[in-house]
Amino acid sequence: MDTLKVRDAKDVEEVVRAAIANEQPIEIIGHGSKRGIGHAMATNAVLDVSALNAVTSYEPNELIVTLQAGAPLDDVLSLIDAKNQQFAFEPVNTAPLLGTPVSGTIGGMIAAGLAGPRRIKAGGARDHLLGAHAVSGFGDSFKTGGKVVKNVTGYDLCKLLAGSWGTLSVMTEVTLKVMPKPEAERTLLLRGLDDAVANKAMTAALGSPFDVSGAAHLPKSMLRAKTEGLGDLGGEGEALTMLRLEGITASAAHRAGSLRELLAPFGTATLVEDMASAALWAAIRDVLPFAAGGTLGAWPVWRIVCPPASGAILGAQLARETGGDVIYDWGGGLIWAALPPKPDAHAPAVRAHANAVGGHATLIRAAEDVRREVDIFHPQAPGLAALSERVRASFDPKTILNRGRLRRSVGA
Ligand SMILES: Cc1cc2nc3c(=O)[nH]c(=O)nc-3n(C[C@H](O)[C@H](O)[C@H](O)COP(=O)(O)OP(=O)(O)OC[C@H]3O[C@@H](n4cnc5c(N)ncnc54)[C@H](O)[C@@H]3O)c2cc1C
Repeated sequence: MDTLKVRDAKDVEEVVRAAIANEQPIEIIGHGSKRGIGHAMATNAVLDVSALNAVTSYEPNELIVTLQAGAPLDDVLSLIDAKNQQFAFEPVNTAPLLGTPVSGTIGGMIAAGLAGPRRIKAGGARDHLLGAHAVSGFGDSFKTGGKVVKNVTGYDLCKLLAGSWGTLSVMTEVTLKVMPKPEAERTLLLRGLDDAVANKAMTAALGSPFDVSGAAHLPKSMLRAKTEGLGDLGGEGEALTMLRLEGITASAAHRAGSLRELLAPFGTATLVEDMASAALWAAIRDVLPFAAGGTLGAWPVWRIVCPPASGAILGAQLARETGGDVIYDWGGGLIWAALPPKPDAHAPAVRAHANAVGGHATLIRAAEDVRREVDIFHPQAPGLAALSERVRASFDPKTILNRGRLRRSVGA
């Protein structure tokens, strides 16, 4: 397979135009860290954007950073961390889960659109993308959004590009909002709750005026007794419910006290602060309990998004029926499920449970033969599928970009 390493947007245009002329679809890669997600592509050339890795501009005072799409995620996080800033949507590092050596590029982060625990408060990746330069499947460069929040005119294509998995355009440069890091973080931990009670505790906390920025629950489980990232807090697979507060130190401490009182009917909450708290939330964000190198490393992993009020029932049923293990984030609205290996990765059960509550499920990790047999992305209702196809075709009529990534049938 040919690998075409591009140096600038002009190169990208040329590669895409040649691909159109030759009717040869291309696969877009940054570092290839998320190649294991989605279907094998019907492509015979790779468009590698990793050399587009410059920081175009960083204006900490304006809370804006503009980066070429191939900039390494880790480097960018270090760059903004040095100014005590962060991406408020907490990009998920999929490297531990997928067992890849690198955590990927900024373009890949946006294309996957995966957001961490703070999504319940700060929104997803798409909400922090202010602008992008990209090349469409026509081989034309275009620009959407701008450097300032209020300069968005016409269609907000940024909202489409985030989560498009490279099926709409090749992003060459993105402008993102950054946020100051909170001065302090405090996490309250409740132990031993079952899923339904934990869901009530998380709902109470999220409905309180204390500005909770993370609400996650690890059910009791013997499958991940000594889980990476949780240190001794995970105990011997004991259930752990965690609620995060962030902000200036005095405020976070005060709100932690008030939240503890509110949560008293659920038990006595213990407090974890700053570094230890950050390690806990990184473990939830990056799904470390299901890391490729851990006990459950060979199990397929699903990411199920559903209304938070349905999460506990869905997760508990799925775990019981399959003998699998689940983690809840977003107050129950996001379920990560590691299920025992099976040729269909338990897809019928997962889809049925997700559909029953109006949710959707993505198979994030599975063996290659399983990925050939199972729909990775949630099948859409016919009306929505037709709309998606029209959107996709308006960007890339010849299906030149990442053909077959989202749909098992396309190009297979
Ligand atoms: C042309 C095209 C076609 C696509 N086709 C498909 C497809 O067939 N199937 C598929 O799965 N993906 C498809 N995708 C990809 C999908 O759009 C992205 O994977 C998804 O939007 C990624 O966003 P996210 O990770 O931020 O997800 P999330 O933040 O999880 O959001 C994804 C969707 O879930 C909704 N959502 C969030 N929270 C809740 C909640 N609590 N309850 C109910 N809904 C909630 C959001 O509003 C959003 O619509 C397609 C993308 C494109 C561009």
